[in-house]
Amino acid sequence: MYRNRIVVKLGTSTLTGGTSQINLRRLLSLAQQVVALRESGSDVIVVSSGAMAAGRSKLGLSVQSKSAMRARSIPYKQMLAAVGQASLMTSWDQVFAIFEVHVAQVLLTRDDLGDRQRYLNARNTLDTILSNGIVPVVNENDAIATEEIRIGDNDNLSALVANAVHANLLVILSDIDGLFTSDPRKNPSATLIPEVVEIDDDLRSRAGFATGGLGTGGMATKLQAAELAMRAGISTVLARGDVPNVLVDIANGVRHGTRFVPIVDHLESRKRWLLGEKPLGAVVIDAGAARALRSGRSLLAVGVNSVLGDFKSGEVIGVRDLHDTIEFARGIARCSSIDARRMAGMKSSAITEPGSEAGRAVIVHADDLVVL
Ligand code: GLU
Repeated sequence: MYRNRIVVKLGTSTLTGGTSQINLRRLLSLAQQVVALRESGSDVIVVSSGAMAAGRSKLGLSVQSKSAMRARSIPYKQMLAAVGQASLMTSWDQVFAIFEVHVAQVLLTRDDLGDRQRYLNARNTLDTILSNGIVPVVNENDAIATEEIRIGDNDNLSALVANAVHANLLVILSDIDGLFTSDPRKNPSATLIPEVVEIDDDLRSRAGFATGGLGTGGMATKLQAAELAMRAGISTVLARGDVPNVLVDIANGVRHGTRFVPIVDHLESRKRWLLGEKPLGAVVIDAGAARALRSGRSLLAVGVNSVLGDFKSGEVIGVRDLHDTIEFARGIARCSSIDARRMAGMKSSAITEPGSEAGRAVIVHADDLVVL
């Protein structure tokens, strides 16, 4: 079973409470919920907007409407984000420090999630931050993200991150209750859609209106994000960020806002992904290890007989049986081919070099393995 992994996207309006600046009380309440989820065993990644808003307020600039901001040059917005990202992180650092939890800033662009090697780097960094008990706070690297490499909005960014870290749940918190049949601010008869199993053109055209506030995205980008997550086997919930305990509630299955049901289940989506990848190498394992894998356990160094090809940690490899040349499982390597060769056949207890943890003896973790 996968560990529970939650990506929570916090829009500018949620962090400012509709005002012109970051509201520390809001951040505090959200940090408290993130900490509560961590304590109950979930990994939580925060995707935080608000850099531009923070920059604007730091520089004492007045709030501008969405259309006025659209008219501003990209370098101007990049400047605002560059100024504001620092104060945004300071604010997150302060509120998490109250719970004695550290935060780590991760700034990404489309390229970081598109290019395979950089995608693996980003994923490994996020994994390591999480496994050290630190909360990653992700934003787009607005200061350098030019038009060609921009994702452009944090809704899509959060879905890409959720996919990269194999999250089970994506929670998008904003200033709107969820997805409505039409724009509730214009149409009083608009009703909330509690559950979406398919996003079609009709839904997109009826519900894909822009939202207010200082943020970049609107309902259209939220639908894009939900659709991406649905295909990746990730549940998405769209809800209001200012409802007390909303994040903890959602993680515990309490209904809020709109839930988008994944099209495929989580495991199936990972299987599809693994099957679509070209393995860069393979490990040949003994009969005992083959039995362990078939019963859902991880591949440990002790069961590895030999290592074929060259691969890095995080890359997809094949698993072969000693007596068969056909791959019977596929998975993501937890170490490089160099380390796998060095550790092949060794018992976990024998791998005690400095810096090694018990986990180092895992060559492919059960969570990252598909038996064919
Ligand atoms: N990266 C932008 C910021 O921090 C937010 C983008 C968005 O609102 O979707 O200001």
